[in-house]
Amino acid sequence: MSETTRHSYDVVVIGAGGAGLRAAIEARQQGKRTAVISKSLFGKAHTVMAEGGAAAALGNVNSSDHWKVHFRDTIRGGKFMNNPRMAELHAKEAPERILELEYWGALFDRTPQGRISQRNFGGHEYPRLAHVGDRTGLEMIRTLQQRVVQLQQADAAEFGHPEAMLKVFAETTVTELLLDGEPGGEDTRIAGAFGYVRETGDYLVFEAPAVVLATGGIGRSFKVTSNSWEYTGDGHALALRAGATLLNMEFVQFHPTGMVWPPSVKGILVTESVRGDGGVLRNSEGRRFMFDYVPDVFRDHYAESEEEADGWYADPANHRRPPELLPRDEVARAINNEVKQGRGSPHGGVFLDVSTRLPAEEIMRRLPSMHHQFKELADVDITAGPMEVGPTCHYVMGGVEVDPDTGASLVPGLFAAGEVAGGMHGSNRLGGNSLSDLLVFGRRCGLGAASYLDGLGEERPDVDPDVIERLGAEAAAPFEHEAGENPYQLQQEIQQTMNDLVGIIRRGPEMEQALESLDKLRERVAGVRAEGDTVYNPGWHLTLDLRNMLLVSEAVARAALERQESRGGHTRDDHPAMSAEWRRSNLVLSLREDRIRLRRQPLDTLRPDLMELFDREELGKYLTEEELPPADRSDG
Ligand code: FAD
Repeated sequence: MSETTRHSYDVVVIGAGGAGLRAAIEARQQGKRTAVISKSLFGKAHTVMAEGGAAAALGNVNSSDHWKVHFRDTIRGGKFMNNPRMAELHAKEAPERILELEYWGALFDRTPQGRISQRNFGGHEYPRLAHVGDRTGLEMIRTLQQRVVQLQQADAAEFGHPEAMLKVFAETTVTELLLDGEPGGEDTRIAGAFGYVRETGDYLVFEAPAVVLATGGIGRSFKVTSNSWEYTGDGHALALRAGATLLNMEFVQFHPTGMVWPPSVKGILVTESVRGDGGVLRNSEGRRFMFDYVPDVFRDHYAESEEEADGWYADPANHRRPPELLPRDEVARAINNEVKQGRGSPHGGVFLDVSTRLPAEEIMRRLPSMHHQFKELADVDITAGPMEVGPTCHYVMGGVEVDPDTGASLVPGLFAAGEVAGGMHGSNRLGGNSLSDLLVFGRRCGLGAASYLDGLGEERPDVDPDVIERLGAEAAAPFEHEAGENPYQLQQEIQQTMNDLVGIIRRGPEMEQALESLDKLRERVAGVRAEGDTVYNPGWHLTLDLRNMLLVSEAVARAALERQESRGGHTRDDHPAMSAEWRRSNLVLSLREDRIRLRRQPLDTLRPDLMELFDREELGKYLTEEELPPADRSDG
């Protein structure tokens, strides 16, 4: 029998990746009693797995870099679907956040002059990713955790206990947000969160007027993914059930390079740094095929011959970029097509080779994790031969609709930052822009939550005891379902459905079929069975994750069926072109009477001074005639 313990905080942050930790640090620095909750071990979040680096226009390697160039690259990468205010805040504030991290102890790789080194990445005009070999996320998490400890030490000295103001609840899963009122009600606001401790199965109630969602992505809804077991879309689903809205869930990033062999590691990421550091893609005929896939919108910026592309590494001022460094959506589609046309590698991918481009010791220095990963998992030495790679579900651009400045959702008291929030990356995220996003908007969310609390004064929302009792009973219900199905079987069917019918290339009838299948799965998931008891029982935990996976999968499929164009992380075989008309609409999803509703909402327009960063010809490829600036405007 599970026990229930109650805690009371000012701010509860759900998620201890980069966004959650940065939000919690900020809330604590603003004097708020803060709890950070993480489903897995403290420190084991996707952020820690980030390899390539964090994008910030520091201008250390090329002094021409500037926040406006970063902004322009981000908007281009997102195919003009980004929330412009978020992209602006991100590009402007990322350098400050990286320097702050260094001030807190992060040890980035250095240039020969001793400045923070920056590397090339797809879609970034200049070398922009601050990095630590190919283990940047590890250093970021280490530094943020160190900052948490530093604050706790200060609290121990001031309040007599290190956890007086900032406490971490590791291996604790939140299953529901608590509300003061009904979901969708006019005066309804956040009152806290409900969850369980993975080890004991005991329930925890967090009373808190402000909750920050920082739960990361949804990748586990797909069969082939770089995401680990926790990423079942919990934050997205919690937000929907609490009455908040999700934005553009159709935009799912399939990273072009995941491992394809052996089967047990299929989907594990091969960092884009391999291409950033000179790796080339070839098909089974030995052809460097990316030259055949440069779309018109990018043609002016990418090399047309191997000679020009190769010259770029040493002399970027006089050469255009290699097409291997196109944004991820373009490269993923190209690989997909090569395999489909029968020009794939033996295990259904293509070849990625850095061994012919860099000396072995340089590969070992720049890409130590990749060398280790391939040697250990596939018995391939990447200093001596090519890797086999193919697309893998990696990141969701869609997420909770938030106010760009504060991270506030539509439900008072509920905030979101990091991968769980939508808007920043438009239809496709550039590599390296997530780590910087986490820092910029994690901090802003912490500030937003603190100022929301200041506005409340002494008044606190109520937590209804009946709701707590109901949530406990609902969590334990799978133990009662004697004739229910195995949760692992149901998970596998959701993943297969999303992979086959709502994957990298989509078609209307297939998505309709996916929605029908998900509807049937929903009935089966309602009766899913958990074996054993509540003490450290991953099978039971999965029964609780499944309804989030289902809800999020339905959100992706519905939005993908609705958007009748191809853009970024949403490719429709039956609507292959990008449509300027469709670009003007965000798709907003909400939950009413347990069903997902969808509506179109106009996308914010670019301010004239930001529009001036693009020439009219380029704008003409994305915007409607009506949105274009006057023809006689001089291009800035
Ligand atoms: P995460 O770091 O994913 O953290 C989410 C947290 O939420 C975790 O602590 C998790 O336990 C917790 N959580 C989830 N659900 C619950 C729940 N129900 N209750 C309680 N806690 C919960 N981006 C880059 O910019 N550069 C890179 O080089 C890069 N490389 C990557 C490599 C890999 C292998 C992967 C998978 C991603 C990479 N990314 C990279 C993407 C980037 O790492 C993620 O988008 C980013 O780290 C997400 O950060 P976050 O703080 O939003 O969430």
